Amino acid sequence: MNKLSITLRITLWYSLLMLLLVLLVLGFMVGISDSIIKSNAESRLVSTIDYNAEEVEYDDGELEVDKDDFDYYKNGVSSLVYTADFTLAAGQLPAGFPADTAFADGAVQQVTSSGGQYLVYDRMVTFKKHPEVWVRGVLPLDAVSGIAGSILQVALFALPLLAVLAAVGGYIITRRAFHPVRVINQAVESITEGKDLSRRIVMKEGKDEIHALADTFNGMLERLESAFEAEKQFVSDVSHELRTPVSVILAQCEYALSQEPATGESTDALQVVQRQAGRMHRLIAHLLTITRLEQGNFQVTLHETDVSALCQTLLEETAVLMPEHMTLRQDIPESITAAIDPALFTRLFQNLMQNAMKYGSQSVAVTLRAQSGRIALEVTDDGPGIAPSEQEKIFHRFYQVNPSRTADEAESMGLGLSIVRQIAHLHHGEVTVQSEPGKGSVFIFTFPQK
Ligand code: ADP
Repeated sequence: MNKLSITLRITLWYSLLMLLLVLLVLGFMVGISDSIIKSNAESRLVSTIDYNAEEVEYDDGELEVDKDDFDYYKNGVSSLVYTADFTLAAGQLPAGFPADTAFADGAVQQVTSSGGQYLVYDRMVTFKKHPEVWVRGVLPLDAVSGIAGSILQVALFALPLLAVLAAVGGYIITRRAFHPVRVINQAVESITEGKDLSRRIVMKEGKDEIHALADTFNGMLERLESAFEAEKQFVSDVSHELRTPVSVILAQCEYALSQEPATGESTDALQVVQRQAGRMHRLIAHLLTITRLEQGNFQVTLHETDVSALCQTLLEETAVLMPEHMTLRQDIPESITAAIDPALFTRLFQNLMQNAMKYGSQSVAVTLRAQSGRIALEVTDDGPGIAPSEQEKIFHRFYQVNPSRTADEAESMGLGLSIVRQIAHLHHGEVTVQSEPGKGSVFIFTFPQK
């Protein structure tokens, strides 16, 4: 049940309730309508005959029926007047009614004949000086139950129709009522996916609970955004502040190391300081790059560039740094152009190449492809590979699969791939990895050509 949406649950609830109500009403109608209609018919029959009985009199010894007031036929009741010896004096027997039906004063009888069922009511009217007179009322029951039948038929058709209408209408109204919740959901999802905290949930004016929820979300996003901004600014400020002292340490180390005479121990100590200061220097440079990329301070200018030519140049530069035992294979078709930022692209390319050379064992391959408006740059190595559980994490800041396996520990900081991913996003593209532990890895950067 919890898997169903609230809209469906509400609709289901009152549809079932409506169905129950319809079944109850129909059952009730079938059960009691007959008896109600019959007793109604009985009272109609009795009151008509009681009334007519007053309109029969003797005038000069002659039996007389008041033509103006005596109702021969009213409300389905046929009224008949009989003399004391049960001879029909006035009125017309309804077709099919057995004329020999016995008389019973003041009682309603139900008579069944081949013509159908009838309710019969007799009243004996007595006079002081004349023989009594019988007034008989006959009401065919078929007509009465016919009405009941047609009411039932209408109800059978109309009630379920009303129930369906209520369910459909209710579903539409509830769906509409929950529309703002879906808007909030979609907005929060797209903000989460795009990691863009500057976006807000936009909704039409309103003062209900859902609008209050959207306002709360927007307030939360605002606070999150300012907290993130403050954090980025802090990292950026700290990196800036550290740059000068670290440069001074490096310069002083260099100066001290160049001085003669140097004792063995102090030289070792100075070299350690120099190495660590160099590592700090690179870390600061990385952090500055990351915060600039995140804060959008980098002047990203995507312009039409010959990516093939740029890759060729970068490969020539990298080949010089390549360890001797490694081979470089390349498949770079000519004249592939795309809108890129050459400086950022270079950074991405170098980071991927440095990793491939760092982790690969014998060979590195670089291929460039253009297909259906998208460009793919692939850097393949035959290194240790990356376990599936690590493949997403390696793009996180400071994440290293196993720092001790890195050949060049001082160089590795776990920041290279997070920069690569940011640069990929700035090119409206993405970077993914396909890897099998023990066989090697392929890093694929895909981005739109235009
Ligand atoms: P690092 O400076 O440590 O190389 P990166 O962000 O470039 O930082 O990479 C993060 C981690 O991903 C690395 O520590 C390494 O374990 C793993 N990694 C990156 N590239 C490769 C590769 N080509 N082969 C195997 N593992 C890799």
